[in-house]
Amino acid sequence: MKIHEYQGKEILRQFNVPVPNGIPALSVDEAVEAAKKLGGPVWVVKAQIHAGGRGKGGGVKVAKSLDEVKTYASQILGMQLKTHQTGPEGQKVRRLLVEDGADIKKEYYVGILTDRATQSVVVMASSEGGMDIEEVAAKTPEKIIKAFVNPLVGLTDADAAKLAQGIGVPEASQAQAKAVLQSLYKVYMDTDASLVEINPLILEGNGNIKALDAKFNFDSNALFRHPEIVAYRDLDEEDPAEVEASKFDLAYISLDGNIGCLVNGAGLAMATMDTIKLFGGEPANFLDVGGGATAEKVTEAFKIMLKNKEVKAILVNIFGGIMKCDVIADGVITACKAVNLSVPLVVRMKGTNEELGKKMLADSGLPIISADTMAEAATKAVAAVK
Ligand code: ADP
Ligand code: MG
Repeated sequence: MKIHEYQGKEILRQFNVPVPNGIPALSVDEAVEAAKKLGGPVWVVKAQIHAGGRGKGGGVKVAKSLDEVKTYASQILGMQLKTHQTGPEGQKVRRLLVEDGADIKKEYYVGILTDRATQSVVVMASSEGGMDIEEVAAKTPEKIIKAFVNPLVGLTDADAAKLAQGIGVPEASQAQAKAVLQSLYKVYMDTDASLVEINPLILEGNGNIKALDAKFNFDSNALFRHPEIVAYRDLDEEDPAEVEASKFDLAYISLDGNIGCLVNGAGLAMATMDTIKLFGGEPANFLDVGGGATAEKVTEAFKIMLKNKEVKAILVNIFGGIMKCDVIADGVITACKAVNLSVPLVVRMKGTNEELGKKMLADSGLPIISADTMAEAATKAVAAVK
């Protein structure tokens, strides 16, 4: 789960990470009020969307008067902000953050995430803040300093010092930088985050260290123990199909292709998408109906897939283990009738009660294309969209 920058900064404040004073705003009037309260003389008006790269896309503006705050707030609010993380259609701006303009002497980068290769949390820092870290990683990887953290001891003083020195924080500000890095590690652990990214972390003219941006991702599997974070959820920022799917406990991710996939089990769902691609097709979604799929759940899954106008065929790939094939066949038949299925449907079933399931599909009178192997199912689905 993602949150907005202003919410991330609320969390950072609680962990004593310095951030600029700022106030969120939902309208131009609120933005001007916020600016008055903050006092100026320089403000930054920032679009709040769940994507980075806002500055480059025109979603972050420095204002030097209340008039400018008003102008920028009206420009940004309601705009369709396009960044490298929003996709070509962009994301509509519904909220702003108005905050004090900082006196930036130097911008650094800090990111904390789980490193799969070392199976540990890694704290990364770079002198090249403010820009795309992916580009720094690709062109000048030596400019990214890493500390792999032992969970039993946390981010040590020595590691924090290595990072602060490695990115060139001046001597006088190193103690502050180290404290900020250690606090950020604590935020990451205590909130069950999967990503904490501060880009930029800045050195101010007066030598202070401050977090100017805040990007958080949280592990959804741990949200049950963080109601305070769940309260930050903004459904406007999430894919409507994914929100709908989550209501029915379906693991659904929208993709760009035109073959809808309905699969039980995440691993089989991944393999199904791979197979579709291998045979020249493009999946329209990832969808794992889970082990306990009922006819109702399968019907909802069909409805969600078919709301996507790009979908030109559906591939159902079921392994009947705990889930029996006849139960899924019943679900598929009910769903097809309920949604008045209008695109070709390819079904592959294997496992418990396979014969019974296949017979039910054949007897249903529905134009279902059946397949025996994954390759056959993918080939037929790809042919159906062509
Ligand atoms: P994004 O990463 O989405 O582009 P940021 O919050 O990082 O958004 O803002 C982009 C740039 O705008 C920063 O790198 C910084 O140079 C500038 N900026 C952001 N907030 C402030 C602020 N409060 N004061 C001064 N400059 C800021
Ligand atoms: Mg940023």
